[in-house]
Amino acid sequence: MPLLAKRLERVKPSPISAIRTMAIERQAQGHDVIGLGAGEPDFDTPDSIKAAGIEAIRIGQTKYTQVDGLPALKDAIAAKFKRDNGLDYAPRQIIVGSGGYQVLYNALMATLDAGDEVVIPAPYWVSFPDMVRLAGGTPVSAPTSEENGFKLRPDALERAITAKTKWLIFNSPCNPTGAAYSYDEIEALSEVVARHPRLWVIADDIYEHLLYDGFRFHSFGAVNPALYERTLTVNGVSKAYAMTGWRIGYAGGPSALIEAMAKIQSQSTSNPVSFSQVAAIEALTGPQDCLAERNAIFRARRDLVVGMLKQAPGLSCRRPEGAFFVYPNCAGVIGKATPAGARIESSEDFVTYLLDAAGVAVVHGAAFGLDPYFRISYATSTENLREACRRIQGAAAALTQA
Ligand code: PMP
Repeated sequence: MPLLAKRLERVKPSPISAIRTMAIERQAQGHDVIGLGAGEPDFDTPDSIKAAGIEAIRIGQTKYTQVDGLPALKDAIAAKFKRDNGLDYAPRQIIVGSGGYQVLYNALMATLDAGDEVVIPAPYWVSFPDMVRLAGGTPVSAPTSEENGFKLRPDALERAITAKTKWLIFNSPCNPTGAAYSYDEIEALSEVVARHPRLWVIADDIYEHLLYDGFRFHSFGAVNPALYERTLTVNGVSKAYAMTGWRIGYAGGPSALIEAMAKIQSQSTSNPVSFSQVAAIEALTGPQDCLAERNAIFRARRDLVVGMLKQAPGLSCRRPEGAFFVYPNCAGVIGKATPAGARIESSEDFVTYLLDAAGVAVVHGAAFGLDPYFRISYATSTENLREACRRIQGAAAALTQA
């Protein structure tokens, strides 16, 4: 009898990890590789937040806490939802987990039975479909297009919904495209959801604070109050406060769903790290200046990358509203030949060529469900980005008609 469970056969190994492994291998062989694959801010956690975590350890806040989070953190989250999103969640409607990852996993584990479908706009964060599969559900991809700014259109949502659909996973600003939805765009989608009373929405707001040029953030559950009872609002401190390693995410939603999620968490990881929770209180209630300061840096990097990619033959790049990703179109390099004589047949061939010939690690679009594109994370230094884009320009210019 095989050791490993059948459930594992439903989950693919992460293509992003595969690229990272290849980049590390090249580096170990002495090659100079610039990694533009990571989905985390390169900044450090702000000092005041670190200090709160250190103090918590010092005074012995190093024990188990309530499974679903410290009451003081839930109060801070309730205040944040009200302040930033206009959403009313009482503490019993809030759960804190070990990152947005765990909160999403809890939600899917608590709600999906075999055959249940989850609509995921493509391109999507690679973990969404695999988490759905792990929980026994079926991911259904709803395509977007570059012409529509990589945003889901109401008719595409309508077409993806069946009698078996339980969730729509809505992520704005989006990983991997950086696309963010306006109030009107969310409202139009919410009208489709409202027509399907069994359909619920996961609003993944993790990139909420990473928005540029004055673009205003709107949370799905706040746009259409009729859907508040069918929305789970997921967020976390990882991206906004450069706290990816602290592992704190949270969600607000109807209390019956939150209780079910806490039940899953109680028999898996139990409470999130005690002193990380204390640091998260400081992040949410302390000075927020770091958000604007870092946003200005991210915006300048986005503009640098979009501008330089425009100079790369065969590539084009939409200027996204938020997050720290761009999703360049590489249709113009498909069919061309590399200096070594290989033919570029796909975005995967192109990213392999970039890694081998230019020492730049990016992730191909097939991984995110919409091709031929690739994802660049600009959460790295301006010098690295300038050099990486220069190399991409050179590599693209070296391709010839096959
Ligand atoms: N949602 C999206 C769209 C993400 O990109 C990520 C991180 N890559 C997460 C959720 C989870 O982040 P964390 O667990 O660090 O909160």
